[in-house]
Amino acid sequence: MLGSLAKWLRIFGFDTLYPDATTNDDDVLHIAKAEKRLLISRDKELIIRGKKVKLDVLEIQTTDLHEQLAQVLTHIQIDCTQVLTRCTLCNTPLISVEKKDIKAHVPPKVFETRDVFWLCPVCIKYYWMGTHYENMIEKINELRKKNV
Ligand SMILES: [Zn+2]
Repeated sequence: MLGSLAKWLRIFGFDTLYPDATTNDDDVLHIAKAEKRLLISRDKELIIRGKKVKLDVLEIQTTDLHEQLAQVLTHIQIDCTQVLTRCTLCNTPLISVEKKDIKAHVPPKVFETRDVFWLCPVCIKYYWMGTHYENMIEKINELRKKNV
């Protein structure tokens, strides 16, 4: 239910596990406990079960992605300064790549206008700071100011 949120948390550099359809609630609770993870969910029952086993939990009520992100970032009290450090597909930490090495891998317009690039060594997917990232950061910072 929170797939977009998980993707954006990875963009903001958080080590984020997103359970697939084969993972049941018991597994989720077990993994969260074993790896000391924050449990983020819109599922009230799962949140209650998480509290019972003394997990750090965060219940999300809104369906608005910006509000969800603002809520998470407020909960863990971290600024949106560290972005694009993890692959949004597989959660692997990204490695930075030199501009001269990526010309063949990104659209010409991106190559002209951007200077910093990253690569996921597992997916072989290239990342750069596009305008949608900048807009997202701006929007979340606005929301967070309102909430403080
Ligand atoms: Zn990847």
